[in-house]
Amino acid sequence: MNFDFSEKEKTFLAQVSNTMATFSKAQDLESGDLSMIRNHLTDSLAVLAPLDYLKIGLLKEGAPLSGTLALMAAMEQLSGIAPSIFLSVEMSTRLFGRILRLQEPTDDRLKIVEKLASGEVIGAVALSESAMNVENDPLATVGIREGGRIAVSGAKSYVVNGPIADWFAVVGRLDDQTAVYLIEKEAPGLTLTERIETMGYDGLAICGLGLDSVMVPENHIIGPIETSRCLDLLKLWENQILIAAALGMMKSSFEAARDYAKTHRSGGKPVIAYQEVGFKLSEMLTLYQTSQLYAYRAAWMADEDPKEAGVLTLCAKVFCTEAAESVAGKALQILSGEGYRSGGAAERAYRCAKFGQIAGISTEIARVRIGDAALGRR
Ligand SMILES: Cc1cc2nc3c(=O)[nH]c(=O)nc-3n(C[C@H](O)[C@H](O)[C@H](O)COP(=O)(O)OP(=O)(O)OC[C@H]3O[C@@H](n4cnc5c(N)ncnc54)[C@H](O)[C@@H]3O)c2cc1C
Repeated sequence: MNFDFSEKEKTFLAQVSNTMATFSKAQDLESGDLSMIRNHLTDSLAVLAPLDYLKIGLLKEGAPLSGTLALMAAMEQLSGIAPSIFLSVEMSTRLFGRILRLQEPTDDRLKIVEKLASGEVIGAVALSESAMNVENDPLATVGIREGGRIAVSGAKSYVVNGPIADWFAVVGRLDDQTAVYLIEKEAPGLTLTERIETMGYDGLAICGLGLDSVMVPENHIIGPIETSRCLDLLKLWENQILIAAALGMMKSSFEAARDYAKTHRSGGKPVIAYQEVGFKLSEMLTLYQTSQLYAYRAAWMADEDPKEAGVLTLCAKVFCTEAAESVAGKALQILSGEGYRSGGAAERAYRCAKFGQIAGISTEIARVRIGDAALGRR
């Protein structure tokens, strides 16, 4: 187990961080109407593509890094700078993109993968439904074979990138198993709901989907795949993204609080001189660094021993996403009135943090699963 990065990897990570920090200074990437959000995303993809960030985990050729550990570190750089752009990019490139690579990809799918890697298209993954937790209920979205095509009907509740996506990976049932239907935005029978406003991630475009006998050709179907295998894999990848999101939140809120504590004076001295403030910063740094180790270990395990990685990733997700809320809360306490104003890194992180505990595999279900694994039930 070695979590050291090579000089080449370190150079790449610094390049992602510096480039995106400079790019994000010029504009507010964390809010806007739909057309603004689309522009922010396409502009960000245009900045990330030449760095080859989008190729990691997607294309072997030309990817600057390989392996899930290095991917985790790369995602952490972006998530700390632009949380909404990060989630949007990762749900498109890494989640949607990796789904396209499942099973033997057709030439059609490989072309879309290449376009994702060059930042030319946006993807979205539609899994959750109204009684949404796919852990509890079988998916109600279903495909029925009609001639050489499949008619897909159903509804999806929350789809990140939904209003701006070119392609959707819609997860549903097929022949009593699970399949992913690849559907273009103009497909007849596909409707989008209004944009959904959320507590955090103000710069994300989210909506629901309706599918009324959307006809999908055979070459746009991935699967059928055994349901638990398919869902476990999608949730693993989603959880890895949410873990990286949590690391980024901790980094940005810790740095905001530390810098403020050093420069802001109250009672004739910088507030860092108050022991209570120093203690808070030390707890925050401890939580952040412990989370980072946990995240890196789970990512490393994903390549070393995928069977072990499932539960370890759940443990890391529970720990990192709860730590992110705690670190952001402590940062706000140090930043006080200044932190409570809208638009700061800690205020944003505090509002975004809850999402990581809800999405992917929720903290409650993760704990049940971890407990089952500890008892040897799974
Ligand atoms: C902003 C946002 C963006 C999203 N983006 C996407 C997306 O792009 N694609 C997508 O497919 N989905 C997306 N989702 C959906 C998200 O994955 C679900 O919200 C999540 O899986 C939780 O499901 P739920 O809301 O139905 O909770 P519910 O299942 O209704 O759960 C409610 C509560 O009960 C607990 N609970 C439920 N079942 C169990 C159980 N078996 N054991 C123990 N506790 C349980 C839960 O942990 C939770 O606390 C998004 C959600 C949000 C809020």
